[in-house]
Amino acid sequence: MKERHMYDVLVVGSANADLTVRVERRPGAGETVLGTDLMESAGGKGANQAAAAARLGGRTALLARVGGDAFGELLLSAQRDAGTDVAPVIVDEAARTGTAMIIVSPDGDNSIVVSPGANAALTPADVAAAADVIAASSVVSLQLEIPMESVRAAAAAAEDAGTRVVLNPSPAPEAPLAPELLAVADPLVVNEHEARQLSGLADGKPGEWAHALRDKGARSVVVTLGGEGALVLDASGVTEVAGVRVKAVDTTGAGDAFTGALATRLARGDALPDAARFAVRVGAAAVTKPGAQPSYPTAAELDALSG
Ligand code: ATP
Repeated sequence: MKERHMYDVLVVGSANADLTVRVERRPGAGETVLGTDLMESAGGKGANQAAAAARLGGRTALLARVGGDAFGELLLSAQRDAGTDVAPVIVDEAARTGTAMIIVSPDGDNSIVVSPGANAALTPADVAAAADVIAASSVVSLQLEIPMESVRAAAAAAEDAGTRVVLNPSPAPEAPLAPELLAVADPLVVNEHEARQLSGLADGKPGEWAHALRDKGARSVVVTLGGEGALVLDASGVTEVAGVRVKAVDTTGAGDAFTGALATRLARGDALPDAARFAVRVGAAAVTKPGAQPSYPTAAELDALSG
């Protein structure tokens, strides 16, 4: 057994201000539609995963960059409220905080444009400076909204330190993932779109995507399937986790809620299928409320939802 770590989960990734408007239907090219009042909330895949883990009680830290502006303040205060240690966050006076412009249609689905801002300035040197924090964490959770070389640096530092890596290759990259990045993913967490893209099997089924991704080098794979739950492939084989039936209000950040929850449970020693069962419930809870981080449950709220 390893010694107890300072953090259950360190997230190395993005932080964005989410600017959300609900619309009756998406505008086509050249078209204008009216929406609801603007909702400003804390988002970004990295910050979302940290908030999800921290709200569930995981000892969580975030390594990210925000700008020295009002959105940066908003994001830091949301992390503090969730219980995340923001000591590793770098406030970059020379950059704007990352922003995501989100439109949500009546079925709860979303379309998103991201302006990376300060996220693009999170460098491998920032990651190297946080080597002690990486080594002091049980799990490091990574996504792809920061420069790829910084993701790779974090994965390599985690591997050196014996820290488990949860890799959520989102947004789905155009190019294949570097083999050494895929090789440390335990698990690789993909949604259906990412699974198709990265497996190269546009028409496959979830089990086929998972096997293809493991054949490409991932140590284990989780495919999230929206309302249908998730499929897990690890050393124990394939486990299908059924979805939880809820009324979907806004799916923004559901995948991040899932991944943050999964990372927390893995850090506490759960087997991957058990961690995925828990994460499916957390993802379902997150779609019942608007926004990304504001929709994430505490452990008590999750128990109440599950009856
Ligand atoms: P997003 O990009 O919207 O954050 P995603 O595409 O990365 O999400 P999904 O597979 O859609 O990821 O959802 C992640 C998890 O959230 C699912 O495994 C499930 O637990 C939960 N979830 C998502 N949509 C629903 C839904 N309509 N009903 C119940 N649970 C859902």
